[in-house]
This record gives sequence, structure tokens and C-alpha cells, in this order.
Amino acid sequence: MQTLFYATGDFDRRADRREDQIWLRERLRDPSSRLYPLWHMRHLIAHEVGSGHGLGVPRAMALDARQHADLVARAETIILLGVDGEVAHFALDLSSLDEQSAATLGEFQELRAIGALMPQREGALLAYARGLAYWHQRHRYCGTCGAPTEVKAAGHQRQCTDQACSTVQFPRTDPAVIMRVTCGNRILMARQAMWPQGMHSVLAGFVEPGESLEDAVIREVLEEVGVRVRNVRYFASQPWPFPASLMLGFTAEADDETLHLQDGEIEEARWMTRLDLLNSPEDATFRLPRTDSISRRLIEDWLRL
Ligand SMILES: [Zn+2]
Repeated sequence: MQTLFYATGDFDRRADRREDQIWLRERLRDPSSRLYPLWHMRHLIAHEVGSGHGLGVPRAMALDARQHADLVARAETIILLGVDGEVAHFALDLSSLDEQSAATLGEFQELRAIGALMPQREGALLAYARGLAYWHQRHRYCGTCGAPTEVKAAGHQRQCTDQACSTVQFPRTDPAVIMRVTCGNRILMARQAMWPQGMHSVLAGFVEPGESLEDAVIREVLEEVGVRVRNVRYFASQPWPFPASLMLGFTAEADDETLHLQDGEIEEARWMTRLDLLNSPEDATFRLPRTDSISRRLIEDWLRL
């Protein structure tokens, strides 16, 4: 299967260098190293002109490490993303800069708004940076004793600064199941009131403690639309750092199409044929989920079956 959006794939994370202070210092001074600035969860973006896409294709803007030693010094968090060939890639959280200083670097944008238009590998790198930056922002204090924590392992750990405690925290990603439910030759499409107008998708929900992924699929479908499913099968997974999920895709089958919308989360649900989906009006009455999502992949995969 084609790589899903926001997965870094074979990008070399070089976990073996995260504790190597000498190597890290050298890379941060190396003119070939690339720095990806983040500011309040937004990324520095340039628009490639002349590409025929209106504003142009959004590109991840990387700064030259040696020319921006001042930014390295001012960064709240420095994260080693990894190495591509010989080139080290770092993310810098510059949220401590005021708006005016940040604006001198260029335009900062939300990945969620532009990710689907970006070259896939760049979108994945930014998603990786975003996921870690979000985790750092929310783990500044120790969950065990309440003392401040500090960045360790080139941005891949935090440790409590209280010597007696010293608890180490690791980045979190929250597992969520997303499932294509079919009954014969029809697929279940639903929408939540909070989604963009007309958007319909497959069902999804967070995994709870004590559940297997398969249990979570069965429970979520039952809770949301009152349908019992069987034959739960793994499909693929996708990092979805908006803000911190790992989407685990499944397929499941229902024997009965009767729907009972139960928990109020789902505004509308209906069974649809392939022809219905192929004729999607893509307007305020009905549109498919965004092209960079695993839900879209689950649907397109079913259309080809
Ligand atoms: Zn502590």
C-alpha cells in the first residue's frame, strides 16, 4: 500500500545520536543542517510560486543552522528529528518569540490546513515535529511530584528536575481506532455536527484502558450507531498529530443495517453503495473526508474491491 500521509516512513531518526552531546552540538553548527521552526504549533511555510495551485504549493521552510545560531540559543525546545543522507534535521520551538519577531522569519501556518497540499515527506516531517512540540508543551511539570521537567535526549524525553524524583517521561501518542463498517455491498458513512459542512466519514474513537483494538472497534460502533460488528481486521495505521493520535484502521462487517444513533456524537449515519460514493456531490450536502486522512484511504480501498 502507498504510504499514508504524515508517516515518516524510512526517514532515519538516528535515535543512537540523541545522547551524543558532541555530535549534536556539531550538527547544530553545521551549515548543512536544517532547522524547522515552530511557533505556537504552527510551522514556517513558504509557498512555491508558479505551480498553478493558486497561492502555490506549501513547502516546509528550513533555516540554515549556522546563520541562525541566535534562534538555536533562544529556542524553548530543540528536537533532533533525524538525518537525511548526511544532513541533520532539527525542529526548534520558538514560541517564546513575540509575534513581531516570529513574523520576521516568515509565515507560520497550521499543518492541518495545508498538509494535504504539501509534498508528502515534508508534511510527515512537520507532523513529527508538531507531535513532539505538542507533547513538550503539555509536560512541563512532573506528573509524579509537580516539579518542573527539563528536555532530555535531544527532545525525545523529559526528566523531572527534582533529584529525589527524577522521573523520566516519554512522548505520548494516543491510539484511536477508525473503522470501515460494511454490510453486504454497502458502507456505513456518518457525520458529526462539528465537522465541516457536508463531510461524512467512517466511524472512529479512542481506545480505552483495558481494551484490545478489536474490542474498541466493536464498542465504538455499538455506542455510536447501535450496530454489532464482527470479523474485525487490521487495515493500516496513520500518525495524526492533531493533536496527538495514532489512527489504527480496521475493517468490520455488520449483519444488520438497523441504525440506532445513541450517544449524540453522531449527527447522521447512512448506508451507501459504491455508486453513491462515486457520485458524491462534494458539496454542503455530502462530501468525502479529506484526502490526507486514513478514512479517505479506507473508503477508496473499498471502492476498488
Ligand atoms: Zn518529579
